[in-house]
Amino acid sequence: MSIKYCYWEMSWPEIKERVKDEPVCIIPVGVLEDHGPHLPLDTDVLIVNEICKQAVENNIADSILLPPVVHGYSPHHMDFPGTISIRWNVLVEYLLDINRSLIKHGFKRILLVNGHGSNSSLVNMVSRLTIVEHPEVLCADFFYLTTPESLKLIEELRESDYPGGIAHACELETSLYLAIKPELVDMSRAVKDISYPESQNFFFDWVDGSARMMEWWSTLSKTGIMGDPTKATVEKGKRWLKAAVGEISSLIKELKSREIRKRVDHHL
Ligand SMILES: [Zn+2]
Repeated sequence: MSIKYCYWEMSWPEIKERVKDEPVCIIPVGVLEDHGPHLPLDTDVLIVNEICKQAVENNIADSILLPPVVHGYSPHHMDFPGTISIRWNVLVEYLLDINRSLIKHGFKRILLVNGHGSNSSLVNMVSRLTIVEHPEVLCADFFYLTTPESLKLIEELRESDYPGGIAHACELETSLYLAIKPELVDMSRAVKDISYPESQNFFFDWVDGSARMMEWWSTLSKTGIMGDPTKATVEKGKRWLKAAVGEISSLIKELKSREIRKRVDHHL
């Protein structure tokens, strides 16, 4: 009998049984927001969900897939029609409640895979708080295609300018969407948009990038795009998708085999 790996397709007795293996719970986290005139609002959800799905399919014995968290944090995109933004504190508590529920049922290993930049600090706070609240579990967070190997592959394949070509609804995201659901990408509407960087980078980048600032998206981009989606191809998307799936597979193995160590109270 093949093992089920989609959490929502299982019955409660199946969950009760499956939890004994301590599988790594994989939770994709995205957002619905503008991704230029050529990509659907669900870009960050579709991509991260597909990466997680393929990674779990490759590691069925060691992991279990949760449904994607579709709504995320994106208030600075609200000038563009379609964006849905959840308040930061609500999102943090919402994600924590998902983790708390899984932990209640006995799951001990959780990986939040984020597909939307502005969720990053919040998703990281959730993984930290989960362990603070529940020292008996492990919870990690990760943004896909950020390992040194993946960054190298991105540089190897990219044809757009650096910096500027890869940021948002760009060569990278458009290629990934093309590799997953090409019928929803309207390449005739894809344009290179580096609207306001003539003298400055898109993102506030002071000295070595160690200072951060996120301005309203409409002050940075005219189309919602930041980058050059005209350079996107299915082939590049497939290579990048495979690399991202590999990253999650490695993380599943790492989390599955990691010892959960006991706290030591040095007051005693
Ligand atoms: Zn995106």
